[in-house]
Amino acid sequence: MADGTPTTPLMEQYGAVKAQYPGHVILFRVGDFYEGFGEDARLLSRELEVVLTARSPDTRGDRTPMAGVPHHALETYLGRLVRKGYKVAICDQVEEARFAKGLVRREVTRVVTPGTVIEERILGGPEHNFLAAVAGGSAGAAHGFAAVDVTTGELFSGVGEAPGLPALLGSLAPFGPREILLPTDGSGELRSDLVQGLGAEFPAGHLEPAPTPRPPTEWPERLRSAAPGPAVGAETEAIGMLVGYLERTQPRLLPFLERCRTAPGDHRLRLDGKTLRHLEITRPMNPEGRATDTLLSAWDETVTGPGRRTLAFWMKTPLADRAAITARQDAVQGFVALGAGLEELRARLAEIADLSRIATRLAGRRVRPPELDALRRSLTALLAVKGVLVGASDSALRELADRLDDPGPLRDRLTAALPDDLPPTVEAGGLFRPGFATEIDLLRRVKEETLAALELLERREGAETGIKSLKIGYTQVFGYYFEVTRPHLARVPERFRRKQTLAGAERFTTPELEELEGRILSARERSQQAEGDAWEHLLDELDRSVPHLHRLARAVGAIDVLLSFARIAVARGYVRPILDDSLRITFRDGRHPVLDRTLAERFVPNDTDLDGEGTRLLVLTGPNMSGKSTYMRQVGLLVVLGQVGAFLPARYARIGLVGALYTRMGFTDEIARGKSSFMVEMSEVSDILRGADRRSLVLLDEVGRGTSTFDGLALAWAIVKQFHDGIGCRTILATHYHQLAELLRSLPGAANAHLAVREEGDRVVFLHRVVPGSTDRSYGLNVARLAGLPPELLREAESLLARLERTGLKLGEGSARDRTGPVRYTQAILLTEEDGAAGPSRELARALRELRPEEMTPVQALAWLATWKDRLASEPPPETGR
Ligand code: ADP
Ligand code: MG
Repeated sequence: MADGTPTTPLMEQYGAVKAQYPGHVILFRVGDFYEGFGEDARLLSRELEVVLTARSPDTRGDRTPMAGVPHHALETYLGRLVRKGYKVAICDQVEEARFAKGLVRREVTRVVTPGTVIEERILGGPEHNFLAAVAGGSAGAAHGFAAVDVTTGELFSGVGEAPGLPALLGSLAPFGPREILLPTDGSGELRSDLVQGLGAEFPAGHLEPAPTPRPPTEWPERLRSAAPGPAVGAETEAIGMLVGYLERTQPRLLPFLERCRTAPGDHRLRLDGKTLRHLEITRPMNPEGRATDTLLSAWDETVTGPGRRTLAFWMKTPLADRAAITARQDAVQGFVALGAGLEELRARLAEIADLSRIATRLAGRRVRPPELDALRRSLTALLAVKGVLVGASDSALRELADRLDDPGPLRDRLTAALPDDLPPTVEAGGLFRPGFATEIDLLRRVKEETLAALELLERREGAETGIKSLKIGYTQVFGYYFEVTRPHLARVPERFRRKQTLAGAERFTTPELEELEGRILSARERSQQAEGDAWEHLLDELDRSVPHLHRLARAVGAIDVLLSFARIAVARGYVRPILDDSLRITFRDGRHPVLDRTLAERFVPNDTDLDGEGTRLLVLTGPNMSGKSTYMRQVGLLVVLGQVGAFLPARYARIGLVGALYTRMGFTDEIARGKSSFMVEMSEVSDILRGADRRSLVLLDEVGRGTSTFDGLALAWAIVKQFHDGIGCRTILATHYHQLAELLRSLPGAANAHLAVREEGDRVVFLHRVVPGSTDRSYGLNVARLAGLPPELLREAESLLARLERTGLKLGEGSARDRTGPVRYTQAILLTEEDGAAGPSRELARALRELRPEEMTPVQALAWLATWKDRLASEPPPETGR
């Protein structure tokens, strides 16, 4: 196929399919294998590590490269291809080889893409799998977006909060799409402005050209319905793109999609991608970090697939609507009140399978018989759960029960149709309970009768021939036979016709056996046909229940999450936060929701008091490693969890609803994304400045570090002042520049706090306790004195510090000795050095000595390097002429 001209009928058929599905890997069914040819063969061999072979030479002597995977392992290989971002078209044989005249007819039966898969083994876990689409955004208009999880039937859509890419990225962040449909430009290329931004924000998302958007009149009925309000402009276009794309990839699922909201009235706490990463909501910030350190993993006590999925999604889309949060809190409280009944209910809940996914595979006709069995058992468990909730004295629990529309009739229907034990596949037969379908019962009886006749025949011939060991056997190739072992061959009568000779035996048949065989085989074939038809029929009928099952699954997810919150609250004595419309945030003895679980009693609780007025800006100082970042994350995570509806690790908690949470934090992850730290910092801060309003909470960790001290300080000052004066949002700023804290002291809405440090013997101990006021300016030197540094050195340091405070960093013509002194705010970490002489190069030397490159991952090494470069950059440049 060197010049692309197919030269055999099979290759001709293949070429036609390939032309129909450009950009897809074609898996072409040939016998027991799915084969790829030509370029696809090379790709399969490379990506799946399967052997690359070649077809036998064609008429021109060309050998087409070929690589394939066995049909029974298709899903495994498919999963690997799709996870790598490939789109795959499965081309099946659509008629049976023995009925085919000439070449078997083949058709693409399925197109699999990262955002449209429904197979369990390819999806990997219960969490959402979103396909997104983006539209509009030109001429200063906001972008429209839509995101659909076909495995749960949920479709979300909207327009960006503001024009521009940051707002779009923020809107899409909670969905973490696996595949994104983009409009193309005039030349058919994906629009480059979108490719750049989306590619960087969603590195795991496959970007795909969008089809022409379908107008609403061509949407399926359920999508067209009024709820949740009409789609507007670019939003309509984005939904239309999804519809067009699914028509090609998952047409069967289209009728079951439903438009949903992430929160009532879409009043949710906005968390952009950076904040989700910085707070490690569902993923560790360092891609190689431990997944156990995320909020999701630390808090996941759900027992069902829908529960896990709901928890992850809720954590990324907390609410900002008091009534909605209160409703969740009421339910948590109701579950707490169940006492011992809680665990019993949880055990019942654990018996419920992922109803959404089963329903979707049913609709997509990829459901296996055992999954319907799981569905039936789940519905029984669900009836028990509903029973408990209906009988609860708490009205919030009874309301949850109302969301479980009666699962009884569907369960009964399944029970009536399906036997207690279901076969692994449809082909295996035995799919239905006796009495379900008369034809199947009839054929089953015919089969049983003929099998009985077979046994009779075996016994009769055994007696007639005198061969006691005469046995009737069956193989797929040879059919039914009498088997006679060698010693008895002499007794075989004339009427036995030889069929096959084995080493120790011969196989025979008789007209009577052949007649029986014919009856058995035809009964088997007819019953297979009848069962297959009845199965299709049953699935057609069950299609009606798909939306019902999707709704049930959502209710199960919510119940599971709320119950898990209650369980955590009981086990750890968490409190129900008070939510109001003030701008207050108050925590008494607040604890970090993740570290509280991992460090337990070693974690030091802290208070928080922000009020949007006199303390709308909290300036936190303290040396490195004293707990500044931890404290800020703690406040952020408590707000997130509080607005998800959970009870919180604190003695008392009150949250004036936050509308958006912004963070600017450690930049190690962004360095891995290939941007310089100062650029990142400034672009992040300017995004925050643009997006934040009075209801926002802004967490700024070490702003102004990415450049030399003075610009950094000046910028940080100007930025913070803008948050304070212009926006007026609640802000926490952590810094180890105490000069910055000094500068900010004058702002009317600013309060200072620092992290306390205590000296113990000759060691400095971080207490991790936040106390009012900024750090004592000479505190570092005090600690150094306590640490036993020579008095002369300290005197020198003190005089230098005094000069620094007068002159800033311009030391000018000072002596060489002056220059070796600490010219920056010295961090406690330096002062634990026994020899006391500090300075970046010395520190660096020590750090280098202690470095164990062999224990670091490349990303850690990169982050280490970047941190040091950043630290050195904040030093005055080395003076020359030394
Ligand atoms: P900073 O940002 O001031 O450099 P971090 O917040 O990164 O400091 O904290 C450094 C370490 O101190 C953390 O890894 C954590 O183990 C510990 N730590 C911080 N806060 C607390 C606390 N409240 N209780 C116990 N340990 C804490
Ligand atoms: Mg820090």
